[in-house]
Amino acid sequence: MQNHFDVVVIGGGPAGLSAALILGRSRRSVLVVDSGEPRNAPAAGAHNYLGREGVAPRELHRIGRQEVVSYGVAVTDGRIVAASATPTDGPDAVAFSVTLDSGRRVTARRLVVASGAVDVLPDVPGLAEQWGRGVVHCPFCHGWEVRDQRIGVLVTSPTGPHHALMFRALSDRVTAFVADPDLVDATARAGFAARGITVRDERVARVESDAGRLTGVRLGSGEVVALDALAASSTAEPRVEHLDGLGLAVEDFVVDGFRFGGTLPVDGTGQTSVRGVYAAGNVTTPMATVIASAAAGTQTGAAVHGDLVRADLAAALAAVPAGQPTR
Ligand SMILES: Cc1cc2nc3c(=O)[nH]c(=O)nc-3n(C[C@H](O)[C@H](O)[C@H](O)COP(=O)(O)OP(=O)(O)OC[C@H]3O[C@@H](n4cnc5c(N)ncnc54)[C@H](O)[C@@H]3O)c2cc1C
Repeated sequence: MQNHFDVVVIGGGPAGLSAALILGRSRRSVLVVDSGEPRNAPAAGAHNYLGREGVAPRELHRIGRQEVVSYGVAVTDGRIVAASATPTDGPDAVAFSVTLDSGRRVTARRLVVASGAVDVLPDVPGLAEQWGRGVVHCPFCHGWEVRDQRIGVLVTSPTGPHHALMFRALSDRVTAFVADPDLVDATARAGFAARGITVRDERVARVESDAGRLTGVRLGSGEVVALDALAASSTAEPRVEHLDGLGLAVEDFVVDGFRFGGTLPVDGTGQTSVRGVYAAGNVTTPMATVIASAAAGTQTGAAVHGDLVRADLAAALAAVPAGQPTR
């Protein structure tokens, strides 16, 4: 079994597989390790992916795997549980080692972190069971599917009013549930009134379902409001727990002064704060859609190849005997 690669890609979602695809086509030796838990797994289809509109998330992964394997990329099911970097004197400057949950250890010249994000959901009983189906978060991902329906919007952050207006563009039957009146100022209330959004200043105590289908919300008072869909925001945390050994910097992802999760910052090439460790997709940008994550993976894979080309050139030049003409 091969245990040294040019590049190990951590995560085989749209970002990781796109990085692997361009690296495989550049004749790099690549291993993709994927634990098989894509962020959008609960959803029936991934929307706004041109050419594969509505494709089931796991089907997109299956197709992507087939495509990268056809260029010699190795893909394995598993989870990276540890990673470390060792400085070297050579042109690569650093050597990486990763450990899989099977105990297998693999070394690489570069790492691409494409492990995505995990959604931390509002603490409302019954909500998690409907996440990605009756409970939606993104008007672009699921809005068309709930158009013209009775949509509730859980206002839990300062961006909640804007969220409600986004769903109002899809249906004229929108109700905003506001647990904390401080989140909705007079301007936002005037906007709700102008756009015909019903406001309920009450806490949602439970999401109600029947036979797996969302039927409404139960308020703190016990009243049940019938709905077809509920929009709610999550906090998206980057999946980086396996990278502690690399000392990567993780930052808060803040919108309108409210923390919506975290990000692994990268520069324009996908390079993280640790030389030789690149990242792409939701781990760096929680708002990135599937096609944006795939695009970031492609750009990052190209940058990694360019980085390795420079290292290969430095190694070749260093190997030229002293005094030998170089042309
Ligand atoms: C409910 C829901 C529905 C959505 N619907 C849409 C939609 O319709 N259209 C759209 O454009 N976007 C949608 N999104 C956003 C979409 O999920 C992301 O844009 C996309 O998943 C990001 O791709 P990624 O490759 O960065 O991460 P992911 O797709 O999450 O892939 C990351 C992969 O890395 C693996 N992984 C994690 N940790 C490790 C580890 N330690 N070792 C090995 N593997 C690991 C995971 O198992 C996973 O397979 C939706 C999001 C949610 C929550």
